[in-house]
Amino acid sequence: MTKPPRETLRSSRYNFLVPIGDDSILYNAGSGASIRLAGQDARELARLLCGPPRNVAAGIIPRSLLGGLRRGGFLVEREFDDLGAIRERYWLARGRTPMVLTLTTTQDCNLGCYYCYESRSNDALAARDIPGIVDWTRGRLAASGRDSLHVDWYGGEPLLNIGFIEAASIALQALCEELKVSYSASVISNGTCWPEDAAAFIREHRIRQVQISFDGLKVNHDKRRRYRKGRASGPSVSSFDRAVEVVDKLLEVVRVDLRFNSDRGNQGDLEGFIDFCRLRGWFDRPFLCVFQLARISDFSERAGFLSRTKLSEDEFETLRARARRLVPDEATLDETTTRSIYPLPRTSVCAALANDSIVIGADGNHYRCGLQVGEKNRPVAFRGAGREMSPGPDAGWWDAFDPTLQPNCSRCSFLPVCWGGCPKKHLEGDHGSLHEQSLYWRKALPQKIAWQFGVALDEITFSFSEAEQFRSAEIGSEA
Ligand code: SF4
Ligand code: SF4
Repeated sequence: MTKPPRETLRSSRYNFLVPIGDDSILYNAGSGASIRLAGQDARELARLLCGPPRNVAAGIIPRSLLGGLRRGGFLVEREFDDLGAIRERYWLARGRTPMVLTLTTTQDCNLGCYYCYESRSNDALAARDIPGIVDWTRGRLAASGRDSLHVDWYGGEPLLNIGFIEAASIALQALCEELKVSYSASVISNGTCWPEDAAAFIREHRIRQVQISFDGLKVNHDKRRRYRKGRASGPSVSSFDRAVEVVDKLLEVVRVDLRFNSDRGNQGDLEGFIDFCRLRGWFDRPFLCVFQLARISDFSERAGFLSRTKLSEDEFETLRARARRLVPDEATLDETTTRSIYPLPRTSVCAALANDSIVIGADGNHYRCGLQVGEKNRPVAFRGAGREMSPGPDAGWWDAFDPTLQPNCSRCSFLPVCWGGCPKKHLEGDHGSLHEQSLYWRKALPQKIAWQFGVALDEITFSFSEAEQFRSAEIGSEA
């Protein structure tokens, strides 16, 4: 009788090893699978599988383990195209990610934050723009066959143009009703100009999520988020107090994301601010209160001057670790700060890449990303004098963007969970920010993996190395 041929497999380039005491957690970023292995032999095996891809004789792996390693994608057929599989998933996601219509109601803002990059033009959407917006949305819903629409009210301060929100919301809700498409909305706001009956506004406009920004405790916040000349209702009005009053009301009816904008000057307020939220009872209200830690940074080409006050990736990671210790429940932390969200491979893209999403600027132009609104050379479609639309120069770039073709991302083992980070950074050639994305995953990924096994890793000291992130594509020696 002839023996069956000796089967040879290949280790996946997306395998990672997280040592937990004497045990080893083997994680695969391509499938999201993880296995806890005990003992020194298992540690050796895990090390072997986590280096550069290598051929592995199936016979050297205990049968009890082999099935699990294959099902989890830790071992793949030798000819398997790892990158091709990620590419396929990415392009499916671009078509399937829910449709978001971001409406920049106005470029105006009543506050003058020092870091604000928005050009405060007089541009604002108006009632006469609504038929065009409804037509565009109708066409896109029909062409895509989507069964839901999400509207994001954006600015400037969107509520300064509340009349437009009310009229456009009613028109878009009616469209969704007619097409039997579900409707929801969200708002990004500074919290200073909400209607008295905020709850009625939320219900009427089917708002499911509100983001309110804070720049620290009252002293820092009011200093940084100052009313612009002539825009406060009185001489001693505090933008902090106004925002707090609004959050108090909103948490009775809707989820609120508290965005804490940190920089070198206000990072010391973190403990006091979270304490303030706790004492105010915001974490125990009927609706979820999510603490969102953000870093004031030069996220636009126009905001390069912020590099002096910006926290480095290491400083920001330290701040994240402080936030984790302070917020009562990891589940009330945003996605990048919490460890409690398991790192599954991505199946959706940001709104800028979603085929059916668009941002309509206060100037009527169409953009892919909200942070580009007002940047004269960035629209993907320009609105002409007769309200006709013509394509902008970047339209083709956005249509074609594929992280699996980017020189660094294509050889990065975080690719399945990262998908190249923010595409706008690629468009702008912002290599510094893209490098920070690498630093983020080197630290965050092991923590997120270990958390799933009930282990809180030392946040500051444990991280994956550059060599683990960028592995040689050459097939190593056979094991
Ligand atoms: S971590 Fe960096 S190199 Fe890796 S996929 Fe993300 S952006 Fe690309
Ligand atoms: S990830 Fe980048 S491109 Fe996408 S919406 Fe956010 S800022 Fe814009």
